[in-house]
Amino acid sequence: MGTSTRALKIGVIGFGPFAHFLAKTMIKQGHLISATSRSDHSGIAGNLGVHFLREMEEFMGLEHDVILICTSIMSLSDVVNSIPFHCLKRPTLFADVLSVKEHPRQILLQEVPEDSDLVCTHPMFGPESGKDGWKDLKFMYERVRVRDEGLCSSFLNIFEQEGCKMLEMSCEEHDRLAAESQFVTHTIGRMLSEMHITNTPIDTKGFEKLVQVKENTENDSFDLYSGLYIHNRFAKQQMKNLESALQRVKESLEARMNKQDGPKCN
Ligand code: NAP
Repeated sequence: MGTSTRALKIGVIGFGPFAHFLAKTMIKQGHLISATSRSDHSGIAGNLGVHFLREMEEFMGLEHDVILICTSIMSLSDVVNSIPFHCLKRPTLFADVLSVKEHPRQILLQEVPEDSDLVCTHPMFGPESGKDGWKDLKFMYERVRVRDEGLCSSFLNIFEQEGCKMLEMSCEEHDRLAAESQFVTHTIGRMLSEMHITNTPIDTKGFEKLVQVKENTENDSFDLYSGLYIHNRFAKQQMKNLESALQRVKESLEARMNKQDGPKCN
C-alpha cells in the first residue's frame, strides 16, 4: 500500500463474475473486501480472501468506507430497494460499476441516504480485456455527490494506481457514447454469434477480429446485453441505425448489380 493510498473497507453488493475480477486487484492492493449477493458465493469468496455474508442486514451493519454496487443492470432497481439503508453505521461512499450510467445515477440519488456520497463509474474493461492488467484501460466516472474528497480519491486511486486512463464525464455523456460504441459492438457480436461464424483456414486479420468480437460478447451474460439496450435511452436509436445501415448497404449493392445487368449503350 503506497503512502498516498489508504486501505479501504469495501463492501460489494452483487458478487458475480465482474465483482470477482475487481476483488482480486483490490485485495492485491491491500483493501479489505466483504460481499453479499443473491446467490451463495462463499466458496469463491473464501478462495479470494473476501468475507461473504448471506444476510444483507448483517452486511450493511459492517463499518464500510465504500459500498460498491456490482449487480446486473436488470436487477439494480430490485437490489437497491432491498438494501436496508437504516443499518448503515455511518456515512459511506456509494459507488457503482454498471455498464449504463444514467439509470443507476437516478436510482442511487433517490435511495442513498443524503449524508452518504455517490460516485458513478464504469470500468471500460472486463475479465477478458483486463486479464493481463489494467494499464491504459479506460475508467469513466462522475462524482455525483461528493463531500468527502479524500475518500472518493482513495477509491478512484484503486484504478489510477493500476494505470487506468481516468475519464471524468457526465453519466448522460457516457450513455450517449457507450450506445455508439459498446452497444454497437455487443449487437454486432450477438449477430455474428447468431450466424455461428467461426475461424477458417484462410482467415484475414479483419475476420480474426470479428471472431474475437463474437467470442467476447458471448462471454458476457444476456442480462448484461439486455441492460445495455433497455436502460440506455440512446441504444434504441443505434439499433435503428444498424438496421437502416444494412438496408442501405444492400440497396447500394443491388443498384450496382442492376446497373451491370442492364442494357449496355455505346
Ligand atoms: P451480470 O450478469 O451483469 O451481473 C451478475 C450479478 O448480478 C451477480 O452478482 C448476480 O447475483 C446479480 N443478479 C443478477 N440478477 C439478479 C437478481 N434478479 N437479483 C439480485 N441479484 C441479481 O454480470 P457481471 O459481468 O458480473 O456484471 C456485473 C455488473 O458489472 C453489471 O452491472 C455490468 O454492467 C458491470 N460491468 C461488467 C463488465 C464485464 O466485463 N463483465 C465490465 C464493466 C462493468 P448472483 O451471482 O448472486 O446470482
